[in-house]
Amino acid sequence: MDDLKTKSLHAGRLWPRIGGAITTPIFQSSTFEYHGEDYHDVGYIRLSTTPNHVVLGERVAALHNAEASLATGSGMAAISATIFTLLSTGDHLIVQDCLYGGTSSILSWLKRFGITHTAVDAQDPSSWGAARQESTRAIYFETLTNPLVQLADLEAVVEFSQEHGLVSIIDNTFASPVNFQPIVAGFDLAIESATKYMGGHSDICAGCVVGSRKRIEEIKVTLDLLGGSLDPHACFLLERGLKTIGLRVPHHNASAMRVAEFLSAHPMVEKVNYPGLPDHPHHDRAQQLLDGFGGVLSFELRGGTEIADQFLGALTLPAVAVSLGGCTSLIVRPAAAVHAGLSPQERIETGITDGLIRFSVGLEETNDLLKDLETALQAAELG
Ligand SMILES: *Cc1c(COP(=O)(O)O)cnc(C)c1O
Repeated sequence: MDDLKTKSLHAGRLWPRIGGAITTPIFQSSTFEYHGEDYHDVGYIRLSTTPNHVVLGERVAALHNAEASLATGSGMAAISATIFTLLSTGDHLIVQDCLYGGTSSILSWLKRFGITHTAVDAQDPSSWGAARQESTRAIYFETLTNPLVQLADLEAVVEFSQEHGLVSIIDNTFASPVNFQPIVAGFDLAIESATKYMGGHSDICAGCVVGSRKRIEEIKVTLDLLGGSLDPHACFLLERGLKTIGLRVPHHNASAMRVAEFLSAHPMVEKVNYPGLPDHPHHDRAQQLLDGFGGVLSFELRGGTEIADQFLGALTLPAVAVSLGGCTSLIVRPAAAVHAGLSPQERIETGITDGLIRFSVGLEETNDLLKDLETALQAAELG
């Protein structure tokens, strides 16, 4: 069982099948008979010990070629449980300069507990050493950044962390284990917002942390205390979503590539950010490190926010909504939604212009999407 598609169906399954059931039943029971287990292994939903949690834990670990994984109630629960496990008051973290908004916010919030961080230029590994302090414990990167879809020198991150004895953490949400396997690449811990490609259907909020058995057990102790476990019903939906990840993500990759090429060639489009395009600054690195360029791209229309909003309003297939990674295409103007918390100056510094549009390309037939984009561009041009 080496192939990801086979593992996504069978790894960690209950055996023998309970009552012959082909899918893992939903164990909607908050508590289970006690047989003398240690506290963190007692059968109880908050302790992530139901059969749904156990199967999901093994399946997600197998997809990452890792020893262990832990499901969490959201991507943010995975991030917070991981940070709270690794860092105490007085400890310091090195992070890449452009991070998911929720991650930036929790890092600022953690200053109240005396946990500090320094943001480094992700594209300049020679500058990272200067950010290191006596108290630095970990380094935190993302596989592909939001919304400019940039890719850091991830091999340099692993090297840097090993050289300085830091725990390396990567948020792999935009890539999913189909396009990048962080543990195989040498990272200590991988985080997924399973709300996105892992779940894949825009119907759950969930997260995962993946790594060695020892590290995952430590993070589970924190998650048990914070109360961030995933509900068994959501475990079931995540397990169901994962069964097709090996088919879904390659389709997202291929379709996003065609959409990026179409937009690049369109006279109304100023700029397209997609690592699959040869003119993307990290295209060569992406080709070397990733098995696919992902389903998310961003672009700017000539004419700024007014044209952008007219275009969004004229689309009939992509839904104007935050989030990404679902079967249905989702599109949003980040400056108006996800990055509205930044000042105009901060948005300019991070390259998130007011007219920038982020597109999570779904599983619709690509030709239908291209037709819809063309029609909406024409409508926006006419005003
Ligand atoms: C959505 C997202 C998160 C947070 O996940 P939730 O499931 O919404 O808590 C973290 N990192 C990245 C890159 C994301 O896209």
